[in-house]
Amino acid sequence: PDGVRLQKVLAGAGMGSRRACEELIARGRVRVDGEVVTELGVRVDPSTAQVEVDGMLLQLDTTKVYLAMNKPRGYLSAMSDPEGRLTLADILDDRTEQGVRLFHVGRLDVDTEGLILLTNDGDLAHRLQHPSFEVPRTYVAEVHGPVERGIGKRLRDGVELEDGLAKADSFRLVDSAPGKAFVEIVLHEGRKHVVRRMLEEVGYPVIRLARTAIGPIHLGDLRPGVTRALTREEVSTLR
Ligand code: URA
Repeated sequence: PDGVRLQKVLAGAGMGSRRACEELIARGRVRVDGEVVTELGVRVDPSTAQVEVDGMLLQLDTTKVYLAMNKPRGYLSAMSDPEGRLTLADILDDRTEQGVRLFHVGRLDVDTEGLILLTNDGDLAHRLQHPSFEVPRTYVAEVHGPVERGIGKRLRDGVELEDGLAKADSFRLVDSAPGKAFVEIVLHEGRKHVVRRMLEEVGYPVIRLARTAIGPIHLGDLRPGVTRALTREEVSTLR
């Protein structure tokens, strides 16, 4: 028979194990060329089919995998750890078993949650991490509130850290509650602990930190410990 079984195509696009992908199909969350498919036997041609999960168009080039993960707190930004601590590979089990060697693009602190990209496209991973690429990264931090006026200007003007000046591209108050505030900070660099150090320097030590976007890729409502494939559009905006 022609084509590749749909659950295999979904798994290859990073949607989880074949079993998990069968579940997606059975629940009516998958469309092929605009039509919902709930049968399990369907075969598609991955080079031409438009496959969507929950309305999101998948990147079906099976040789390249691009994933967005919401890294939970407590996980190392690594694919293995000699000390046996939890790593990204513990979230990716099904996929590493399928023999796709993925690398993570950059790191988040063990206590930081949020968006991290994984790919086997070494070229793209390398470019995204290169300082000249200057991809803006967006973080939301919980701090003790209220936040004074003028903090945004100080962060945009730049704060002096041990290893040099660090500047925010933008800063805004997202939300506040009695005694606490959630602030969003966007910056172009990835020095270790840089957001924690900048906010500490202006008097607002971070209680909790999440990365919510990398350039055009947004965390959205992806839950911690969950991974999704980037769409074709998202991949092309990164290139
Ligand atoms: N800045 C931090 O302080 N921590 C991160 O994980 C990323 C940026």
